[in-house]
Amino acid sequence: MNKVAIVTGASRGIGKEIAKMLANEGIQVIANYNKSEEKALKLKKDLEEQGKLIDIFKADVSKQEECESLVKYTLEKYNKIDILINNAGIDQYKLITEVTKQDWEDMLNTNLYSAFCMCQQVLPNMIHNKSGRIINISSIWGIVGASQEIVYSITKAGLDALTKSLAKEVGPSNIKVNSIAPGLIDTDMNKDLTEDEVKYVIDQTPLERIGKPQDIAKCIKWLIEDDFTTGQIISINGGWIIT
Ligand code: NAP
Repeated sequence: MNKVAIVTGASRGIGKEIAKMLANEGIQVIANYNKSEEKALKLKKDLEEQGKLIDIFKADVSKQEECESLVKYTLEKYNKIDILINNAGIDQYKLITEVTKQDWEDMLNTNLYSAFCMCQQVLPNMIHNKSGRIINISSIWGIVGASQEIVYSITKAGLDALTKSLAKEVGPSNIKVNSIAPGLIDTDMNKDLTEDEVKYVIDQTPLERIGKPQDIAKCIKWLIEDDFTTGQIISINGGWIIT
């Protein structure tokens, strides 16, 4: 039977590339999107034309009831969930003194509560099956911190704590939980960076480039095959940040 994977925030960027990779591996993918319906429909059409197993589902994963709907839909249609990729995320550049309570709530709910809630929802099925993989897309900023991205960094550090704690809790049920902490990846999230800012990062990076969404998808491909890695934070950043 085909494996079943949910990817949150799969309409664009890193999540889209992860969905494509998983579908190419013969996995039944449920690609979640929120605002970018046209892009999600295009992804579905493109993959279906190649004979891949792809489904899409609209849900704002910052909200508990919409996480519940996404998981309920998946279980009713596909009976199980083998892989959960918590990828949906937003970023914001502000000095700490400019961050509002609403900013805080939006960032925490979208980047961290969503992953916590999705884990809560999928785990009963994974525990029942004594098998599962959960991968949280965090960020190097969760490890080293970032000026003017304090709330973002807090959410990503929180995700890494979720990864470590949950790996301990559900390891005996044969469920592996890991984080991937990307460096700078070429997606819409960084569309406002100037050429000079990107060049500055490249100059500091031993592998002399910024990342591509495919770099993250390749790591996921390895993680869903590996059998002895759990509770780890794997940073994919070309050597830009070495901790
Ligand atoms: P992106 O191109 O801006 O895409 C973000 C994705 O998240 C979109 O598909 C968006 O869906 C989805 N999303 C946002 N809020 C959502 C919500 N409430 N419910 C469901 N989906 C939601 O960003 P990206 O660069 O691919 O980032 C993906 C992940 O990698 C994020 O967690 C980000 O923090 C992390 N990351 C990125 C970088 C980087 O340099 N790009 C570095 C480190 C970590 P819709 O458009 O459909 O709303």
